[in-house]
Amino acid sequence: MYGHPVALCADMGVPPLRLTQQVQLAQLRFRLTQVHKDSIPGTLYEITMFTPQYLPPQAMERLMEKAQHHLHPQSALHPPQVNQALPENKEKSYKNWLRVQASNLWRRELMFFKLPAQAPGRLLAYVQYNTKDLERVNLYKPAPYLSIHHGHALDLIRLRVQAWPQYIPTHLHFSGRKAQPQYQHRYCEYCHQPSALGDETHIFLKCPLTASVVSETVDQIHKKLRLFDASPWSSLTDIQRVSILLGNPPPSLLKKYTKEWMQECVPLLHTYTTKFRSLLGSLLPPPSSEPEDVGSDVDP
Ligand SMILES: [Zn+2]
Repeated sequence: MYGHPVALCADMGVPPLRLTQQVQLAQLRFRLTQVHKDSIPGTLYEITMFTPQYLPPQAMERLMEKAQHHLHPQSALHPPQVNQALPENKEKSYKNWLRVQASNLWRRELMFFKLPAQAPGRLLAYVQYNTKDLERVNLYKPAPYLSIHHGHALDLIRLRVQAWPQYIPTHLHFSGRKAQPQYQHRYCEYCHQPSALGDETHIFLKCPLTASVVSETVDQIHKKLRLFDASPWSSLTDIQRVSILLGNPPPSLLKKYTKEWMQECVPLLHTYTTKFRSLLGSLLPPPSSEPEDVGSDVDP
């Protein structure tokens, strides 16, 4: 699957390793200073940390302290759920809390791509279409659409993580046939409208050649929006519309309906995504006989 690696990790619930490592180091420090502080390792840790200046900068003890400081700056105050947990569950509860803190840090980094000064690119597209899913408290859990079991899930996953370079022009980040165009110059190859960026918004909502399949999907989604008492399709922005088509819950949906929405809509979206892929496949021009030219593998 040649998708965007960050998009794939975010959908699957895999935050960056550097944050996961900090969670583990801070959890280990909690174990040695709180849960098992009277054990031999706990006592040794305490003695070592009397004189941390003698430790090399990469010493495990220092890294543990640094990680906890990063994720939990006021480490003297325990989170309420850790205080309330049974002694044998305290470490697990603390680990879960640390994962939420790591999720917050990662979310902040991802949302940075939405700032107006950022250049357009695949990561910005992923973040802006899937902000709703990225707002989930714990990014160590997979995106909610993945919890709905359905026979044809792979097409929607590929679409979400931008692994459709042969169908969606902006997903094309590497081409063996021709040089890589900049993101903003990856135009629609179906309708050939001048300067129509071939991104999800155009392909789903604007391109005249895909209108038939999309209008069928939109009719169904529109009915569901009414059923769940959410804002109507006509009041949504293009980004919000694409976001729903990619399996995110609608912006105004009450939280208590999220699970039901997913159960009702995700199978529909799977079916339509598969239909959509067949349509795009049939619209593609035959492979060109251009001379081979190696593109760059930079990944904007
Ligand atoms: Zn088009």
